[in-house]
Amino acid sequence: MKVLKFGGTSVGSAESIQNVRTIVSRIEGPKLIVLSAMSGVTNILVRINENLKVGEITEAEELISELRKKHLDLVDSLIPTDNATVINHVNSLFQKFLEILQEENSENAEARIVTFGESVLTYIVSAYFSSKGMDNLLLEAKKFMHVPNLENPDTEKVGGLLGHYLKDKIESDIYITQGFVRTDKFNRINTLKRGGSDYTATILGAAIRAEEIQIWTDIDGFHNNDPRYVEDTHSLSHLSFEEAAELAYFGAKILHPQTVSPVIDKNIPIYLKNTFTPDLPGTKISNELSHTRFKSDFSER
Ligand code: ASP
Ligand code: MG
Repeated sequence: MKVLKFGGTSVGSAESIQNVRTIVSRIEGPKLIVLSAMSGVTNILVRINENLKVGEITEAEELISELRKKHLDLVDSLIPTDNATVINHVNSLFQKFLEILQEENSENAEARIVTFGESVLTYIVSAYFSSKGMDNLLLEAKKFMHVPNLENPDTEKVGGLLGHYLKDKIESDIYITQGFVRTDKFNRINTLKRGGSDYTATILGAAIRAEEIQIWTDIDGFHNNDPRYVEDTHSLSHLSFEEAAELAYFGAKILHPQTVSPVIDKNIPIYLKNTFTPDLPGTKISNELSHTRFKSDFSER
């Protein structure tokens, strides 16, 4: 099984999602796909939560209708015909979401609000794949992503929970689930912190002992210098787990800082790939030795 994670910009529009479908259809074998929310959506959800905290319900409702429109438009573009069931379901998800606003003293409203982007998008992408004849199974991450300790996820436990959850489900070649979501020590919905879908991918990769993990973003792998500040950088074809972890901690905003930790012991390689240039090799992160000079390059800033 391969784990494929697609981040915000990779699922930021109907065109990108069509692109994702092409990429997925070209990858052989069974796949577990982890999706984050459409780009920009989590930021809006954070604002909705802030509005709610200070009682600005009308503002929150306006933002929610904006998000509803965005996702309904997405359904129309991806599934232009016979989409009534999907539209109805998306509407009902938003209806349930609106009900959070009415709850009094809801314990974990914040986590339920900010993870909504992943819930609605995975449903739409799953329905879109099905409409194209790509059978798939949508999995609810909250049923198995039990991560009470953010720094040290028990991936055996997650694997056990996933196995149990899948027991009475039909087998599929394509599984789709939400990044970012976890349940905490109180068994309540919580998050893996902003950008956490990468971490979901490696926790699940370790949990199922995946053959590899592919993280699809909008840049072609790790660069030898920070492309946001330096011209003419080039992507590194290979990094060790330690180097990648160090780079992520240094703030090369490509990976969630903890991404590599769950897979180091199991030596599961991570490939960083660009959704928009899928034929470029990207960066492989593994325990093979590499001979790069990135450390000195990065530490100059
Ligand atoms: N959607 C979440 C965020 O924007 C998680 C992620 O993108 O990885 O932080
Ligand atoms: Mg995101």
